[in-house]
Amino acid sequence: MDYLPLFHNLKGRNILVIGGGEIALRKVRLVQEASAIITIVAKDFCPDLLEMDARDKEHGCNGLILITAGYEHHHMLNLPNIVMVIAATNDRDLNRLVSEHAQAANILSNVVDDPKFSTVIFPSIVDRSPIQIAISSGGDAPVLVRLLRTRFEALLPAGMSKLGSLAGSFRERVKAKFSNGADRKAFWEEVFHGPIAEQAYANNLDEAERMLAHKLESTDEFKTGEVYLVGGGPGDPDLLTFKALRLMQQADIVLYDRLVSPEVLNLVRRDATRIYVGKTAGDHPVTQDNINQKLVDYALEGNRVVRLKGGDPFIFGRGGEEIETLAEHGIPFQVVPGITAASGCAAYAGIPLTHRDFAQSVRFVTGHLKDGSANLPWAELVSTSQTLVFYMGLSGIGTICQKLVEHGRDPHTPIALIQKGTTPEQRVFIGTLATMPGIVEREKPRAPTLTIVGEVVSLHDKLSWFGPSTSNDAHGQSTAQGPGD
Ligand code: SAH
Repeated sequence: MDYLPLFHNLKGRNILVIGGGEIALRKVRLVQEASAIITIVAKDFCPDLLEMDARDKEHGCNGLILITAGYEHHHMLNLPNIVMVIAATNDRDLNRLVSEHAQAANILSNVVDDPKFSTVIFPSIVDRSPIQIAISSGGDAPVLVRLLRTRFEALLPAGMSKLGSLAGSFRERVKAKFSNGADRKAFWEEVFHGPIAEQAYANNLDEAERMLAHKLESTDEFKTGEVYLVGGGPGDPDLLTFKALRLMQQADIVLYDRLVSPEVLNLVRRDATRIYVGKTAGDHPVTQDNINQKLVDYALEGNRVVRLKGGDPFIFGRGGEEIETLAEHGIPFQVVPGITAASGCAAYAGIPLTHRDFAQSVRFVTGHLKDGSANLPWAELVSTSQTLVFYMGLSGIGTICQKLVEHGRDPHTPIALIQKGTTPEQRVFIGTLATMPGIVEREKPRAPTLTIVGEVVSLHDKLSWFGPSTSNDAHGQSTAQGPGD
C-alpha cells in the first residue's frame, strides 16, 4: 500500500494554497467544504475564486485570505499552525519548491498532478456526509477512478446522508441498550436494510425517526412490513430506476404480473419468494381483490413486499387501487415510478411523442374497448395536432382505426404498432389508419403491443435506431422482418 487513506479533520485549521487559477479553485472548493481557513498566494486570481471570496464574505463567513504576490518562503513560515500546503500553479519547478519547503517544515504537501512530489494526494470523493467514499489509484489510473466514482454515485441513494445523520443521532442510545457488540450490529443491520432506511431515503425523516425510536424501545420481535409498488418499465432491464433495483434486491416477496420481462425479474433478490399474479386474456386466475389482500397479508407478517408491475404503476396499472387497500389497513407503502410503455416504445422506435411541427400534445388512451367502442370520446381524439397512444389496443385495432376515420381523422394519418417494445423481440409496424388493420391481420403481432397514431410517426424512418425490425407498408405491403423471421 503506497498511501494510507485517512479522513482529515480540517475544521478551523490553516491551509496554504499557492496559485489562483482553475486548478487551485477545485482544491479550494474541496478544503473549504471541510471548513478549513484558506490563504491563497498568487499573482492573479481567476474570477470564480474572487466571486467565491465575495460570496462568502457576503454570507458573513470568513472568506478566503488572498495575498496578491509571487510565492516566497516567508508566506509559509509566517502562517501559524499551518497543516497543509497545496501547490497549484502551472509552474512545475515552483510547485516542487513549495513542496520541498513544506516537507522541510513537516507540513503535509500536495502538488497538483504531481503525486511524486506530494506527501498527501486528494482522492476522488463520493460525498453523502457523514458517509463518504474516497477512491484513489495513487495517481496511476485517474480515469478508472472516475469511472468507479460514477458507479458508487449511482449505487448510493442520495438520501444516504440523512440515514447516516439519523444513525449518528441514535448511536449513544443504541449503545446504551445493547452492551453486546453482536446485538448492536444485528440491530443496525435491520435498520439499514429495511423500511426505516427507505423512509429516510424518501426524505420522510420524522417517520424514520419515529420508527427507529419504536424499534429501539419495543422489546418484542415485532417487524414492520412495507409494500413497494414498483414500476418495472417496458422490458429492457437497463430502464429500471436505481430505486426500483434497490428495492427489488431487498425484497422478501415479489408479486409480479405478465408484463414484467424475464430480464427484469432476474434482478430480484435470489432468495425472494416470487409470486405470479398475472392475468392472461379472458382468464383471471388471481382477482384484483385477491392481489390487494395478498399485499396486506404479507406486509402484516412483517415482509418487505415488492409489487412489481410493467411500465409505470400509475398508468393503466391499477396501482392506485392496490395502495388504496394498503392505506385503509395503515400499511406503509411507497410508489416507484417506471418508464411507461408509451415513453419506452416511442424512444426505442424513434418516434418522438411531441414535436414542434406535428404534435403539441400527447394523449394516453386505453384501447381496451368495453361495450364495443362506446366508451371512448372519439370526437376529442381526432385533433391533428395531438399524438394518440393506445395501450391494450391490439384486439380492437380495426375499430380504433375505423372510428378515428369516421370522426374525421384523415385515413392517411400514419400509425405505428410496436410489438414488445424495448426488448430484443421489438418489431415496429408502420401503416396508416386505412392500412393498419390489414397489416395486423397479416403479420399477427404478438402482445404486448402499443399503438401510436399521428404525424410524428412519419419521423420513425429517419430516427429509428434500435433493433433490425421495421415493417413498412408504403406500397400497401408489409415487409416486416423480426428476429427469427
Ligand atoms: N402500466 C403499464 C401499462 C399496463 S397496460 C405501463 O405503464 O406501461 C398493458 C399495456 O401496456 C399492453 O397492452 C400494451 O399496450 C402496453 N405495453 C406494456 N409494455 C409494452 C411493451 N414492452 N411493448 C409494447 N406495449 C407494451
